[in-house]
Amino acid sequence: MPPDAIPARGLAAFSPTAPLGRWDFARRPVGPRDVRVAIDYCGICHSDVHTVRGEWGPISYPLVPGHEIVGRVAEVGSAVSRWQVGDRVGVGCMVASCRQCGPCAQGLEQYCDAGFTDTYNGKDLVSGGVTQGGYSDTIVVDDHFVLRVPEGLDAAAAAPLLCAGITTWSPLTHWGTGPGKRVGVVGIGGLGHMAVKLASALGAEVVAITRSAAKAAEARRLGAHDAVVATETGALKPHRSSLDLIIDTVGTGHDLEPLVGLLRMHGTLCLVGGAPEPHSAVRAFSVIGKRRSIAGSLIGGIAETQAMLDFCGARGITSDVELIGVDGVNAAYERVVHADVRYRFVIDLATLDGGR
Ligand code: NAP
Ligand code: ZN
Ligand code: ZN
Repeated sequence: MPPDAIPARGLAAFSPTAPLGRWDFARRPVGPRDVRVAIDYCGICHSDVHTVRGEWGPISYPLVPGHEIVGRVAEVGSAVSRWQVGDRVGVGCMVASCRQCGPCAQGLEQYCDAGFTDTYNGKDLVSGGVTQGGYSDTIVVDDHFVLRVPEGLDAAAAAPLLCAGITTWSPLTHWGTGPGKRVGVVGIGGLGHMAVKLASALGAEVVAITRSAAKAAEARRLGAHDAVVATETGALKPHRSSLDLIIDTVGTGHDLEPLVGLLRMHGTLCLVGGAPEPHSAVRAFSVIGKRRSIAGSLIGGIAETQAMLDFCGARGITSDVELIGVDGVNAAYERVVHADVRYRFVIDLATLDGGR
């Protein structure tokens, strides 16, 4: 790192099994097209847990996770004109892409032919080092990947929009969610509770599908029209062949057959959960009969992320969060693994100051 590198403090994973701990590191200097963001809040996504525990493959340590970042602009590069110091901004799952390929030209940087750069555990195209995420006091990001967060939204509760929000918004809008459509949401965690809120705000009728009777009871408050406890015998039967789209957020291998059976003609089962292991096979006749599709979707592009944030700003939509300090992160990880969070942990980075 050059001498004008920016000192940063954060919470890092040091091995797949050790608890996360404090770590001092450096951010790249603010280049002409960069924005430095002073981070206020960062959500804990289940992807953070999969990544630091090596469930998606080996990584290099130390690694600071976190890609649901909300803060304020602290510094802007000489070629950046659209931000003022103090603006409320967010950074999501991407910090760079080639900006030239077909997907990038369409505003779908997440499908960049050259591969986008992850906010953490990616290769920093400027410094050559490993990108470090948002469980930190500050971050330096290319201007294109900085989002405007509506001032009217609670900043902590808006942080999960940067991943959980856009990851569900992108397939919901891609598959035409709106009035007259019926959408199922499987797994009522961080992504799932946002899928319920966004699908119902878009005008669809929503069926929440959970293993938890307590979450089923709460689902209507989140915006669902019906909720079923999938583990109860016969619970799915009333919804057979009735859904246009299912957003499946479950992050472990599971049986897709019962879900495919819920789709009506031309319906789509969209996988967003990052299960490290394969799902069980689906029989050909389960999809042939009603010309059903099984699909997948990855986060969302920058333009659609801004559209989602603006929609949420106009409607007052945020995540239901449990706000924690940095010292609560390791306990939070255990609760995430046990699906015991209502519905997203968000770290208050002001608590980094307390421990030094
Ligand atoms: P989360 O908060 O842990 O929610 C996942 C939910 O799935 C749980 O709340 C639980 O809901 C359900 N679930 C968990 N284990 C299950 C099992 N064994 N069988 C059935 N249901 C189970 O996680 P998240 O942060 O929402 O992320 C969900 C998944 O999406 C993760 O794998 C994450 O890595 C992935 N992800 C993908 C993208 C993408 O771009 N595609 C982006 C972000 C995250 P109930 O308690 O209601 O059953
Ligand atoms: Zn995420
Ligand atoms: Zn590209």
